[in-house]
Amino acid sequence: MARKKKNKGLHYKTWFDYVNVVLLAVIMFVTFYPFWSVLVLSLNDPTDALAGRLWLWPRVFTLNNYISFFQRGDFIEATMRSVARTVLGALASVLVTSGFAYGIELIDRTRRLGGVEGDDSHFDPTLLSFALEDMVCASGCQLLYHTQLAGVVMGQGRITHVVVCNKDGLSAYQAHYFVDATGDGDLAHMAGERYASGDHRGLNQALSLRFEMAGIDFTAFHAHMRRLGNHSERYFAMNTPGMRAILRQACDDGVLHEQDIPYFQGFGVPGKPDAMNFNCPELTTRAGVVEAAFLTSKQVEGRAAILRMRHFLREYIEGFAQAYITHTASMVGCRESRRFEALYTLTIDDLLSYRKFDDAIISCAYPIDLHSDDDAGARLRYDRNVPPDRRYWQVPARCLIARQTPNLLIAGRCAGLDYLAQSAARIQIVCRAMGEAAGMLCALAPQAPAGLHDVDTRQVTHLLRARGMRIEPPGAGDGTIERQVL
Ligand SMILES: Cc1cc2nc3c(=O)[nH]c(=O)nc-3n(C[C@H](O)[C@H](O)[C@H](O)COP(=O)(O)OP(=O)(O)OC[C@H]3O[C@@H](n4cnc5c(N)ncnc54)[C@H](O)[C@@H]3O)c2cc1C
Repeated sequence: MARKKKNKGLHYKTWFDYVNVVLLAVIMFVTFYPFWSVLVLSLNDPTDALAGRLWLWPRVFTLNNYISFFQRGDFIEATMRSVARTVLGALASVLVTSGFAYGIELIDRTRRLGGVEGDDSHFDPTLLSFALEDMVCASGCQLLYHTQLAGVVMGQGRITHVVVCNKDGLSAYQAHYFVDATGDGDLAHMAGERYASGDHRGLNQALSLRFEMAGIDFTAFHAHMRRLGNHSERYFAMNTPGMRAILRQACDDGVLHEQDIPYFQGFGVPGKPDAMNFNCPELTTRAGVVEAAFLTSKQVEGRAAILRMRHFLREYIEGFAQAYITHTASMVGCRESRRFEALYTLTIDDLLSYRKFDDAIISCAYPIDLHSDDDAGARLRYDRNVPPDRRYWQVPARCLIARQTPNLLIAGRCAGLDYLAQSAARIQIVCRAMGEAAGMLCALAPQAPAGLHDVDTRQVTHLLRARGMRIEPPGAGDGTIERQVL
């Protein structure tokens, strides 16, 4: 069979190709001509140049312009200024665009992997971790998985090294500044920072061990939920009266335990058409949850509860007959444990009065969300005199700066938050903003005479704004942000 001869040359087939080439040629000319024009001017006699009409070539050629330029003593300083402006301008623009791009890129990447559907508030955590890992590696950051914090080395009241433990044994890492983002504040604890934990009784909030089931027939499940009065598409708190009656029945039948009933909650997962992720079982707690043996006992207790829940779902809820467990959380979920003393402690009064700060790193209107047998949350009252468009509170950057250790930042649910304020401020979006702000504080600290304690934290707010973050919520002004997580 004769083969078609390949045409390796340029081959314009359509009008579009011709127009394209002409357009690109015009753009090239328009881009290049200003530079050419300056060169022509510089090589032309200045008096003659004043007459204008210099186009493609010098009319009266001369090198005098260059000679007088180099004879001036300040040309080096002027050149350095231009270079500095260009370099700093380019750096600032890269910072601003990259900061803005981060959020968009993360969502975009996760969406491209199939892990985000509709709005951005529901995502597949596994696919999000793929996207995050990619971005972290691309940024030049070095990851070290399978590694635990094992100790800290202090010198003159500062942390000089962290000691970590992994397959290589023990290794020490030195740094100028350290960010504790361990949730429980393990590093701050080892460094001897003071902390509070739990409610007025010292009791921490409930723990949960999340799990996922797949193989669900959602048509049958939705129909069943609708009959029970739950018309959701994704989120099933399962706390309708009909559902509560079924849970009670299962408990009376010995399938569920009493503690399995109050908090039964499941979500659909983007990209997983037959799966649900369960935000339960919720496990009883005590004071000082952060203790290896206690956390282990809760993990074991959680797994037993998950098996009861699988039994319940298969037997009592339509659509689950063929469903199976695909995943259980690798560690029992802790909502609240150590909360450290920082340069500022965000209090429940700040939240109830919708307090704003000069050094705000995020605005939020998430409600008080206590997983506790105490009804303290129900007794709290927000200040109704605040206009609806101002009903959001803020977290100041000072909540991240450890009070005693001058080179330590605490980001996440263990930051400077009182017990009740933490129940609202522990949510992921706030913790994420804290991480970003902590990075900025590390960058600002070397410029401050006494390090972190001396940073003008309002600069963090300016930097965040410059990087495209909206510190004030988009709903401000129209009264729609009452309960919206920002
Ligand atoms: C069951 C449950 C459901 C929740 N549901 C929601 C929700 O729907 N929406 C929402 O916004 N928030 C929710 N939250 C709250 C939110 O997820 C957490 O408060 C938030 O993720 C805490 O973030 P963090 O960065 O402080 O800690 P984490 O996200 O816990 O991150 C701490 C990291 O540090 C690592 N680490 C800990 N100790 C060490 C150590 N010693 N050495 C090395 N590494 C260590 C951990 O492995 C972990 O990766 C929920 C919390 C729980 C427990």
